[in-house]
Amino acid sequence: MQDCVFCKIVKKEIPAEVVYENDDILVFKDIKPAAPVHLLLIPKKHIPTFFDLKEEDAGLLGELHLAAARVAREMGLEKGFRLTGNCNQDAGQLVFHLHYHLLAGRTLHWPPG
Ligand code: AMP
Ligand code: ZN
Repeated sequence: MQDCVFCKIVKKEIPAEVVYENDDILVFKDIKPAAPVHLLLIPKKHIPTFFDLKEEDAGLLGELHLAAARVAREMGLEKGFRLTGNCNQDAGQLVFHLHYHLLAGRTLHWPPG
């Protein structure tokens, strides 16, 4: 998608600190970290929100979750992490390319604001 910042990161048109990549997904550092570890996990395919997911995308979601566990293990985050997906305005979604936030490295309060 032409004007999507995450698609531009996928196409390497703008830089990002990539921590994991395969054919289908990308994991990179959030530019404005809200915790000592703040990663974004995205499918390379442009899917605007969770509401736009199709049955055929189920495998992609599995890959994102597996990548979260893999990266967290590699980064020594056994004490824990949070995987969060914001959907539409009430959740504060700013970038309309589906993504999960992986937050870690401090105590994360619940419920979030
Ligand atoms: P959300 O509110 O769930 O849509 O979150 C979007 C996230 O993308 C925010 O945490 C931003 O800091 C992050 N973000 C936006 N642009 C970039 C970028 N160019 N590189 C890395 N993270 C970004
Ligand atoms: Zn996109």
